[in-house]
Amino acid sequence: MTLSVRVVGVGDAFTDRYYNACLLVESPGARVLIDAPPALARALRDLGDRGGPTLSLDAIDHVVLTHLHGDHVGGLEQLLFWRRFVTRRKCSVHAIPEVLAGLWDTRLRGAMDTLLDAQGTFHKLTLEDYADVRPLGYGENSIGDLSVVWRPTRHHIPTSALRLSHGGATFGYSADTAFDPHLVAWLAESELFLHETNLGVHTPLASLLTVDPAVRARMRLIHYPDTHAVEGSPIACAREGDRYEL
Ligand SMILES: [Zn+2]
Repeated sequence: MTLSVRVVGVGDAFTDRYYNACLLVESPGARVLIDAPPALARALRDLGDRGGPTLSLDAIDHVVLTHLHGDHVGGLEQLLFWRRFVTRRKCSVHAIPEVLAGLWDTRLRGAMDTLLDAQGTFHKLTLEDYADVRPLGYGENSIGDLSVVWRPTRHHIPTSALRLSHGGATFGYSADTAFDPHLVAWLAESELFLHETNLGVHTPLASLLTVDPAVRARMRLIHYPDTHAVEGSPIACAREGDRYEL
C-alpha cells in the first residue's frame, strides 16, 4: 500500500442519508482524517465495520481541517474531549492559518475552555491543552511520511483544497468550493481526486461535465445532495466505505 483513501462520509451540510463529507487517508507511516464532522465516532465505527480494522477516535492521530463550517468540524469537540479526558493521548490538528485563527474562538472555546476538577476548582484551558496545533504553510508540509500541499478555494470562509502524496502517488480533494477551472487543473495533477458538487454557491454538476473527459475519469463526486442519483451519475460518486488504493 502506498496511499489509501477511505470514504468516511459523502453528504452535504443538510444530509439525512449520509455522514457529512469526511475522508481517511493512510500511508505506511501516517493516518490522516480530513475534516471531523458530527457523529465522528459512529462514522469511524461504521467505516471499520465495512472492512479493515475497527476504527475509533483513538485511531485518529492527525486531523486536517479544510474549513470551519459545522459539517466539517462539528465532531472535533468529541475527538478532543475523548483524547484528553478518556485516553489521554493528544492528536494533531492541521489547517491553514486562516482556519486555525478562528477555530478556538469561534467553534470550540465556549464548550471547552473551562474545566471543573473533582475538588470543585475551575481551570482555564486552551486549544493547545487539547491538541498539537500545526499550521499548514505554503509549499510542502509533512504529516508523517505524507506530503500535504493546499490551495485556497472559492467558498464563504477561508477553505483549503488539498493534495496528499506518498511514494509517487497523489490524491486530491476539492473541499467546499464554487466551480473553479484552475482548482480542477490543480487537482488533476493527482492520480485520483474527489470533487464536491452541490447547489447554491457550490459546484454545479453541469460545470464539472465541461471538464476534459480524461480528467473527469479520475474525478469522483462527494458532498452531493441527498437527491443526487448515485446510480447512473454522469460522474462516478464516492460512496461511504469505498477504499481507493493509489
Ligand atoms: Zn462549507
